[in-house]
Amino acid sequence: MSTVDEIAALPEPVNGRFGEFGGQYVAETLMPAIGELDAAWRAARRDAGFWAEVDGLLADYVGRPSRVYHAQRLSAAVGAEIWLKREDLNHTGAHKINNCIGQAVLARRMGKRRLIAETGAGQHGVATATVAALFGLPCEIYMGAEDVVRQSLNVERMKLLGAKVHPVQSGTRTLKDAMNEALRDWVTNVGDTFYLIGSVAGPHPYPWMVRDLQSVIGREVRAQLGRVPEALVACVGGGSNAAGLFAPFVGKTKCFGIEAAGEGVPTGRHAATLGAGKVGVLHGSKSYVLSTPEGQIAHAHSISAGLDYPGVGPEHAYWKETGAVTYISRTDDQALAALERLARTEGILCALETAHAIAALDEVAKQAKTIVVGLSGRGDKDMVTISQRRSS
Ligand SMILES: *Cc1c(COP(=O)(O)O)cnc(C)c1O
Repeated sequence: MSTVDEIAALPEPVNGRFGEFGGQYVAETLMPAIGELDAAWRAARRDAGFWAEVDGLLADYVGRPSRVYHAQRLSAAVGAEIWLKREDLNHTGAHKINNCIGQAVLARRMGKRRLIAETGAGQHGVATATVAALFGLPCEIYMGAEDVVRQSLNVERMKLLGAKVHPVQSGTRTLKDAMNEALRDWVTNVGDTFYLIGSVAGPHPYPWMVRDLQSVIGREVRAQLGRVPEALVACVGGGSNAAGLFAPFVGKTKCFGIEAAGEGVPTGRHAATLGAGKVGVLHGSKSYVLSTPEGQIAHAHSISAGLDYPGVGPEHAYWKETGAVTYISRTDDQALAALERLARTEGILCALETAHAIAALDEVAKQAKTIVVGLSGRGDKDMVTISQRRSS
């Protein structure tokens, strides 16, 4: 099957929503820009020329297809047949580049000559700066001033790649403030600017577009395995690597999304948005959010910076409500133990985000004997956090 046919087989949102979730909760001034993007995406996803360009870069630049690897010692330890989908082997070390390549190709086709993005931990900022350099486009990244300090290595990477990093001083000086600044930039510069969102979040069409672009993960698994596994497991921050793995399989096999329980859901210091949040609006779409008793967006907490987000993609909210995907959560301590277990059994140092998915395997193995885990990224970026935790 061609990529166009595979993409056409994925479910489409209806009126910009997955069930009641999604939509376009943005300022009136942004409606023309997201309308233009929606039309461009609608056309691109049906266009073989678009996918030829994207698939070519994914192969030659990113190094796809990523391997699906039978982890034999981990399988023996867990008591199930476990396969790892190795997104950590991609150029830049995680799945985020899949989405950035796709949106950059779309930006070029739309005649946009400038990329902007927001970033929390900096991983999406680095992936965006990477494709901006590849395409020769100027790039500006909005990042909370607090995060700029905490994630100084990623800031340095973005600068080396030629991006301009704007530390955002408003609000709590973290991700959600950076998102607001990026939206403000977009409103001001819609004519020539493409806003590259890093997960299946944001107003329609972003959750749909990012899921389609990340679906290369699940589409490859289907072809590589030659059969449908009994279960799929992936960590959920905004939800893009999970949505990409699950999308071709939803309704056909069991899917498990693993959120970050941080220090434990009862402590309130966690990022289990679907497990413990409420329906609300964040970043332009309706989904589940973590909120305070006063109704403000709450602070999320996780040892892994990439799961530390108080929202989640609207399609996940829909999958939760329809029972298509099961969502559970794992704590910081459980993720660290799982990271060590994977390192010792397979010689693979995964990202702290990914470790949450590994930590759920014993539970999933009670219900399924063939399991594919999305290995969303490599652990090098987390070595300082890990070593501080182990020595404390
Ligand atoms: C950013 C990131 C995540 C979380 O983002 P999703 O959109 O939920 O996939 C997970 N794993 C890694 C390695 C990341 O960099």
